[in-house]
Amino acid sequence: SDGRGNSGEIGAGDAKAHFVFIPLMFQGHLIPTVDTALMVATHGAVATVVVTPSYAGRVRRTVDLAMTARRSSGAAAPVDVRVVDLPLDLAVVGFPDGCDDNIDNIPPGFGRDYFRALALLREPLKRHLRAAGAPYPTCVVSDACLPWTQELAAGLGVPRVCFFSMCAFCVLCQHNIERYNAFDGVAGDDVAVVVPGLGDKTFEVTKAQAPGFFRMPGWEDYGDAMERALAEADGFVMNTFMEMEPEFVAAYAAARRMKVWTIGPVSLHHQHTTSLAARGKTTAIDADECLQWLDNKEPNSVVYVSFGSIAHADPKQIVELGLGLEATGRPFIWVVKNVELYGETMREFLQELEARVAGRGLLIRGWAPQVLILSHAAVGGFVTHCGWNSILEAVTAGVPVVTWPHFSDQFLNQKMAVEVLGIGVSVGVHEPVVFQVEKKDIVVGREVVETAIRSILDGGEEGEERRTRARALAEKARTAVQEGGSSRDNVFDLIKSFTGEQGDNRI
Ligand code: UDP
Repeated sequence: SDGRGNSGEIGAGDAKAHFVFIPLMFQGHLIPTVDTALMVATHGAVATVVVTPSYAGRVRRTVDLAMTARRSSGAAAPVDVRVVDLPLDLAVVGFPDGCDDNIDNIPPGFGRDYFRALALLREPLKRHLRAAGAPYPTCVVSDACLPWTQELAAGLGVPRVCFFSMCAFCVLCQHNIERYNAFDGVAGDDVAVVVPGLGDKTFEVTKAQAPGFFRMPGWEDYGDAMERALAEADGFVMNTFMEMEPEFVAAYAAARRMKVWTIGPVSLHHQHTTSLAARGKTTAIDADECLQWLDNKEPNSVVYVSFGSIAHADPKQIVELGLGLEATGRPFIWVVKNVELYGETMREFLQELEARVAGRGLLIRGWAPQVLILSHAAVGGFVTHCGWNSILEAVTAGVPVVTWPHFSDQFLNQKMAVEVLGIGVSVGVHEPVVFQVEKKDIVVGREVVETAIRSILDGGEEGEERRTRARALAEKARTAVQEGGSSRDNVFDLIKSFTGEQGDNRI
């Protein structure tokens, strides 16, 4: 038996396995963690998602809409996803009065304190999980950026699997750079070195582009704690799929001597418009209105432009991007965040631009239904900051990308898109810009924006090849999550590995 029982689900009829998901409450981490919890629950385990109050309502909404969509498509088996809402009082650890637990409202300069403060959740959570009312946890699945969860799992006497909302290529590069001290003796942060330990594969990065996890000044102890928690983890779950990067998945598993369960693309868990549009924050545009706008455009003609949930551009850079988009003469959807933070001049610029490109350009001021947009046949290119979720969502939709990394893992993700997968064109940014407005002036000029977009939408033979590769990956991604696919099998295997049936997490 494969342990799935007649219903095709593990543990049906028996005491169910209970996986406790602890996300980092940044959109790029929370969204894929909730999707993973839904997947684990639809494969027969109980899933609990632990968040602070600002996030509880919206996670419940995502879960409810996903379940409604599932029922409407005729799936009968009940799905058990619980949302645990734990208060986090930041005032007691020195945050300004009135500061709530929503990361969008954390004052500048308090980032490190926020990460440290999250460990305050450990004891209340332990008490909650020990109390009657839910099955005792089988396994904790917590974000790789939350090292305190290792101690939580140890205290509960259960394994902890580390969740990476990153690709194996990126995680492996960071690991090898650290393990082999790749930047020791290198003259400057902008000097490129070859990432060690990748055999005959040559990828060059600078320290500024790939400093390692939390290897910023002042965060040393946090970075050390994260590395310890990674070394002690009982395995890794990644939002990627085996067929896209088998060698990097295998190399990371070998380096850690632990299993890596690739379970992505997790966005494919949502098959309905309402469920997809409810993955993140409330959208600033009605999903149907957005789809109707796209319905009127030719296939592969529209470029979608978004820089994720954190990156925050300098006003001058926004103007260049806008003028570059206008100059392409192509239809576009452009997501502009935090318009309220810019002055009247910016508001006027955007309004005037919008008037000039009426019918051809759609501005979304706020949160966009990204996956829904990318999945539409009219979308032919994506200008992205290279957050891993965005790259993977482009892959899943078979859409080539213009890569414009800002910080964090985004430079390595750019390498993944351009050099490993061959589906991207870089705008040529070499230095990171940090997310709060940094007065770096214009990084990428309007002509560069225009040229990159043209090459992605109609780059001749090369452009066709990029599109063909992106489409082939999209096909593999779909296969991975279907019956018998690698990601689907890995979800079963993850559950089995900790329920003592026959699995094992070591390699
Ligand atoms: N996202 C979205 N609408 C937006 C901005 C972002 O749906 O307007 C989603 C996007 O689809 C992705 C996530 O938020 O799933 C952003 O994650 P990513 O890793 O791309 O970037 P980050 O926000 O972490 O920099």
